[in-house]
Amino acid sequence: MKLDLHIHTTYSDGDCTPREVAALARQAGLDGIAITDHDECRGYGGILEDANTDMPVYAGIELAAKYDGEVHVLGLGIDWQDKTLVRHAEDAAVGRQQRAALMIERINKAGLDIAMHEVEKECGGGVLGRPHFAAAFVKKGYAKSHKEAFVRYLSSHAPFYIPLDKVEVSRAAEMILGAGGIAVLAHPGLVKTNVLQTLLPRLGDMGFWGIEAYHPAHTDRQCIAYAHLAKRYGLYVTAGSDFHGSVKPHISIGQEKRGGKYLDESMEAFISM
Ligand code: AMP
Ligand code: ZN
Ligand code: FE
Ligand code: FE
Repeated sequence: MKLDLHIHTTYSDGDCTPREVAALARQAGLDGIAITDHDECRGYGGILEDANTDMPVYAGIELAAKYDGEVHVLGLGIDWQDKTLVRHAEDAAVGRQQRAALMIERINKAGLDIAMHEVEKECGGGVLGRPHFAAAFVKKGYAKSHKEAFVRYLSSHAPFYIPLDKVEVSRAAEMILGAGGIAVLAHPGLVKTNVLQTLLPRLGDMGFWGIEAYHPAHTDRQCIAYAHLAKRYGLYVTAGSDFHGSVKPHISIGQEKRGGKYLDESMEAFISM
């Protein structure tokens, strides 16, 4: 059973459409995927428009949440038209637009010539985010690569970073459960260790189903450690590539090939829900 349960599309900051993503997953021989755009669940509608898609696709979302800093929560198997989630997505999009305007102001004040329409062009109608700023910086010659653009201008310690408004992690789980989905803590390896130590024991009470133990940002040892921790706290595990297309060229769909018995068990539980 091979499921890639963390994939971004053109509905957020990925550059493949939901259909393209499904086609790639079929080529990769996967048994199913979840579309998990940042604070956006309408990508699943892009799959439904294509009657020829025979790849099993689960509707999902990746919510940015706060818990002593930023953590990401995957919602899997949600009703993609759930009113609360759709409303949240609309609010988040407005928040992103306002944040982008503030970033442009700061960028221009610092003497760099970048206009909103140039960033929006990189976004192509999806959810406006820092990767689109990075692309604009590269295009205008202010950075040689996405990576350099993040290091110099956009990462959380860089001058043009402005954080987004986020919901509490408990609220993120509540919204996902309310939409009929299951909540999974995304890439725990990207959460500070001391924060994770207090968060993990609380996940069960917040209604979480699992944690994404298998993710390309994790070392082999981390994957195994998170699988053990999940079991200790009565949680299942998932695997995801966090595919974004050419935005993260080193990541391909279904590339997270590590796993084992506990992941197999978890995936059996997932598909039988
Ligand atoms: P945003 O949601 O607009 O704050 O942008 C977050 C996205 O930016 C993430 O999903 C990543 O794809 C990308 N990102 C964040 N930090 C970095 C980094 N240091 N280098 C490259 N991409 C990054
Ligand atoms: Zn992203
Ligand atoms: Fe994430
Ligand atoms: Fe992601």
